Amino acid sequence: MPGEVTAAADLDEAERSRILAKTARFAPPPARDADGRLDLVGLSRAELAAALADIGEAPFRAKQVWHWIYYQGATDFARMTTIARDGRERLAARFVVGRPREATVQTAADSTRKWLFSFRDGQQAETVYIPGREKDRGAVCVSSQVGCTLSCRFCHTGTQELARNLGAGEIVGQFLAARDAYGEWPSPQGETPRLLSTVVLMGMGEPLYNFEAVAGAVRILMDPEGIGLSRRRITLSTSGVVPMMDRCGAELGINLAVSLHAVRDELRDELVPLNRKYPLRELLTACRRYPGSSNARRITFEYIMLKGVNDSDADARELVRLIAGLPAKVNLIPFNPWPGSPFATSTPAAVARFAAIVNAAGFSSPVRAPRGRDILAACGQLRTASGRQGTRGAA
Ligand code: SF4
Repeated sequence: MPGEVTAAADLDEAERSRILAKTARFAPPPARDADGRLDLVGLSRAELAAALADIGEAPFRAKQVWHWIYYQGATDFARMTTIARDGRERLAARFVVGRPREATVQTAADSTRKWLFSFRDGQQAETVYIPGREKDRGAVCVSSQVGCTLSCRFCHTGTQELARNLGAGEIVGQFLAARDAYGEWPSPQGETPRLLSTVVLMGMGEPLYNFEAVAGAVRILMDPEGIGLSRRRITLSTSGVVPMMDRCGAELGINLAVSLHAVRDELRDELVPLNRKYPLRELLTACRRYPGSSNARRITFEYIMLKGVNDSDADARELVRLIAGLPAKVNLIPFNPWPGSPFATSTPAAVARFAAIVNAAGFSSPVRAPRGRDILAACGQLRTASGRQGTRGAA
């Protein structure tokens, strides 16, 4: 038995190495402006200190610059008035504090706002702000890749080729740019309400196929001397990259959401093709050992309701059986059709029946209200509309 456990651990380690090697093949270009100045956004504290030491700055300078970038939201060194003028000029000569460029922004009647952001090399990704029921709260949904390799059948982004991974600076930069748009600087502290109160890594791409950059961005979001978001307010959504789920839990301790969408391998193999590699049994086992999950921090299972495909009473009962004993909740998501999609939305009656079965088994099962229906709200639609596509990476 111990031999088997070691073999499984070795396999996981080999698989993690394979995933990380593939991630590197789709690395972003260097975070430098055309004039060679380095973008400080996305560097860890240690990397920031090293960059500043390179131009002869003392170690305390990194703390000051960090405060200006992530607490005050400054993008101009001239604003960093705790630094003497000649210091500010030295910094401006070598560095920038970048933001992605807003290529398109749409605001829906329900105040959902969607951006298509452009990065230095012209690649684009989408970010969405979803206001909460309480007016002073809301979630920012950020992308982790440009396109995606995974081709989930119901997902519009899945029809786009993977162009590349986003860097940590590009991931956290989406949040910073969204915050600029709402003027929420300096960073609210403690229990002060925040308009941008939660972050979900649920936009374009599979975040666990870009783990290092995502982890770098998440650490910046959580840093108490900057944005200071608690780990309870950050959720990573995965389609089930089992070998990386442990690392996510152990190293970041953020909330986990799993794009489940089907409760039998035959159907999930079709809807979420990654299931062929990491089938339901392995996925649910990884959920059961996810560090830090508890009744106070439940794992969210995302379930898109597809008419006549996965919305029967039998599906609901099987879902309950699969997640029995897990601290879990189930988000039921009425499908948001996009042009050419092969699916229809489940009827309200089918959704209600499904929710009732899951609920009766003791799992909260909210039905996600459709948001931003009057804008191109399905993830990936803005980028397609803008006509930019990349080259697909091998899965
Ligand atoms: S649902 Fe997520 S993982 Fe699947 S294709 Fe869409 S972006 Fe990729």
